[in-house]
Amino acid sequence: VQSKLDALKQNTNNTVNALLDEKALELAAKVDAKIANGETIGLLEGIPFGIKDVYMVQGTITTASSDLLKNYKSAYTATAIQKLLDAGAIPLVKENCDSFGHGSSSENTIFGAVKNAINPDLVGGGSSGGSAVNVAKDYTVFSIGGDTGGSIRQPAGYNNVYGLKPTYGRISRYGLMAYASSTDCVGPIAKSIEDIRIVLNAMSGQDVKDQTTYASAEIDKDAISTSENIKTIGYFKNFIESEAIDAEVKADFLAAIEKIKDKGIEVKALDFFESNTLVSTYYTLAMAETASNLSRLDGTNYGNRIEAENLKETYAVTRSENFSEETKRRIVGGNQVLSQGFSDEIYLKGLGLRDQISENFEKDFNEVDIILSPVTPSTPPKIGDSLKDPLAMYLSDAYTVGFSLGQLPTLTVPQGTSTGLQITAAKNNDELVLKFANFLK
Ligand code: GLN
Repeated sequence: VQSKLDALKQNTNNTVNALLDEKALELAAKVDAKIANGETIGLLEGIPFGIKDVYMVQGTITTASSDLLKNYKSAYTATAIQKLLDAGAIPLVKENCDSFGHGSSSENTIFGAVKNAINPDLVGGGSSGGSAVNVAKDYTVFSIGGDTGGSIRQPAGYNNVYGLKPTYGRISRYGLMAYASSTDCVGPIAKSIEDIRIVLNAMSGQDVKDQTTYASAEIDKDAISTSENIKTIGYFKNFIESEAIDAEVKADFLAAIEKIKDKGIEVKALDFFESNTLVSTYYTLAMAETASNLSRLDGTNYGNRIEAENLKETYAVTRSENFSEETKRRIVGGNQVLSQGFSDEIYLKGLGLRDQISENFEKDFNEVDIILSPVTPSTPPKIGDSLKDPLAMYLSDAYTVGFSLGQLPTLTVPQGTSTGLQITAAKNNDELVLKFANFLK
């Protein structure tokens, strides 16, 4: 714990919003004492981890990397984090990320852009950039990210580590600051499939504080160590034939497909929605939900209030001064698609398309066990580039957002020199995702 804290303190990748050093050292001393006493300790006991700075941890400041909440102290602890604490894991750090999860590069933050673990001139990815970089650099053994439209999978891919977005509802969202509630997922980033499995098991389960959660069985180590029940995989033809895909990403993906065929697995090319449709459906719904979720942040109950002449002005100044440009873009966009005259045409259309996307997945999973995809069409951009072109940034989410809308379990595994492979299974089949990842190794 001490050496990881030291490394975090000295890190130049901008991964840290706050260190939880005092508490971490206190917890570590307790574990040391237990070991000295000859007591047996649990699998997660004493294991240092990081927390994306959008999770409530009682007594810590939870900023969402925003000016609005830069002094906001959590009054309670998120269920998923509490379960890890109960298992004895030791939280070291609140991690830098895109403000409120809004972004794909971890540049939309008051703490400075997160730098990629492999090449610091490039972005760390987002929005859980600090979390992925901390794992890649061994500053934490695992980190808890949040994934609404790719924010665990994409930075995991950009930094060559594993990142899982579980089935929606498998892990409680209670205490995760809401971005788009219908696709927000809690998930682990780690350096091995086994670590992902252990952390996933520890956090899963029904929670009376989140009505969308469901009970799930533990995933057994042996059960994911066979290739039983993996016979057919599919991939989306249009993703791979798209003009937007980098040559390197395409070549790595096709090489993976060949390797899978050589192992005797049948591979099917599937039809899917165009990237533009996926990205616009996702952003329509995500912006609508975030506009609604963030309406509570007006400086009255939470955050950094800026007093003005009257109450209305106070709301306006507090929100204008404290939200980032990107967050304001989303609030304005979201309120527009929800407003009278637009909601039928745009918001309801988005909901309809989401249903069609989910039905399409159901049909596909009657034919294939796994869907394989690159994580992103291109390799990580240089720091500064994404901020110049928000639309290009939205389009870079083309391969992750569809699986989010479908609420499916999906895992990034490191692959070749590009940005990772994304392994997706049918709803509630997180076990098969991990099994396939083992099979690919
Ligand atoms: N890049 C996507 C967005 O900005 C996904 C972010 C996320 O999953 N939190 O919405």
